[in-house]
Amino acid sequence: MKILVINSGSSSIKYQLFDMNNQSVLVAGILEEIGRTGSTLKHRKNNGNGEFAEFTHSQPVHDHAAGFHLIMEFLAHPTKGWDLSDLSGVGHRIVHGGEAFRLPTLIDKEVISTIKAMIPLAPLHNPANLIGVELALEQFQSVPQVAIFDTAFHQSMPSYAFRYALPNEMYTDYRVRRYGFHGTSHQYVAKQAAKRLHLPLDSVNLISLHLGNGASATAIRQGRSIDTSMGMTPLEGLIMGTRCGDIDPALQGYLVRVTGKTYEEIGTLFEKASGLQGICGSNDMREVVRLAESGDSFGTLALDMFCYRIKKYIGAYFAVLGRVDAIVFTGGIGENSPTVRGRCCESLDSLGIVVDEGLNQHRGREPFSINSDESRVKLLVIPTNEELEIAIQTLELIQARQDSGI
Ligand code: AMP
Repeated sequence: MKILVINSGSSSIKYQLFDMNNQSVLVAGILEEIGRTGSTLKHRKNNGNGEFAEFTHSQPVHDHAAGFHLIMEFLAHPTKGWDLSDLSGVGHRIVHGGEAFRLPTLIDKEVISTIKAMIPLAPLHNPANLIGVELALEQFQSVPQVAIFDTAFHQSMPSYAFRYALPNEMYTDYRVRRYGFHGTSHQYVAKQAAKRLHLPLDSVNLISLHLGNGASATAIRQGRSIDTSMGMTPLEGLIMGTRCGDIDPALQGYLVRVTGKTYEEIGTLFEKASGLQGICGSNDMREVVRLAESGDSFGTLALDMFCYRIKKYIGAYFAVLGRVDAIVFTGGIGENSPTVRGRCCESLDSLGIVVDEGLNQHRGREPFSINSDESRVKLLVIPTNEELEIAIQTLELIQARQDSGI
């Protein structure tokens, strides 16, 4: 069973072909800088012995259609690619499913037009995602294609968690509410955590921390998201690489008045020039930690702020969940930074959270635990794999349809 996963972004297309019999990656790649002068395709092929042959190809790629055709040349190439004649399905990452999509969904014309209706909610992402869908439908006409939404996992949030305290019409007429993102990642690590804890997913309570360039925390009760830190857009919540996270909503108007910048410019500043970058000049946590360790006051402040905000969310979600079986760290920072993990859990022993500093130094691509023996709450580091989760959900839907004879 082979499943192709496509993540078509605004200036890049990522793809992975999985053999679902053993969940291994057969070929994978990323085409970046579409529409700009220096487009580069990085493509890798599994040699079957655990090693990958890597290919880099640069040429101008003017648009997604040209990019998709270039990718197809590599994907189906007799030596660099794989035989795609027995492809079972294609899974597409779609950023925003609004309230329309709570589950993986087989793509047809109606689904495409509903995703289009979500464009005002995700004006940068959904159009780019849809281009990938339309190109793949053309290419693989007889293969079922499935949409997996970043927002879907959080559709289980109760209204008191997802509503903003704004007049009701803002919700009913303009769809203003908290949607949350990174759902596929939170869902994947929740499943992995349940396995590691030897508990059924529907009994497990978790705080999941996806800490990458974008960052979000999710409170998971009995395997379902009941609250998450990102909101109507990914700007809300934790401090991120370049996003500010939670701020006073009056700030945008104030800054427009005092700086002379436009409303849009201040919006861009919150999105692209804030967070770690805005405080210490780097959005890379490795550099932030290096600055902090060398005594740089901005680096120290950025690290302090980043970890303090996470700690506040841990406290809030502890109160919301009542019982927490495990806190899960994932994403580039969560998986790789003992400093951040340690700081987020510092002095939380009254909540039953105690890190083992020796275990916390471990590195690896397999899940590992970093809690001490006396810690009531397990502390897990679980490398995320959104592409694999998309492939799993795609296959599950296709098999369920086959089983029910559809
Ligand atoms: P992601 O968005 O999940 O790919 O995460 C990317 C971020 O992970 C980078 O911006 C870095 O800040 C962070 N990162 C990657 N490796 C490390 C590391 N060894 N230590 C600390 N942070 C890291």
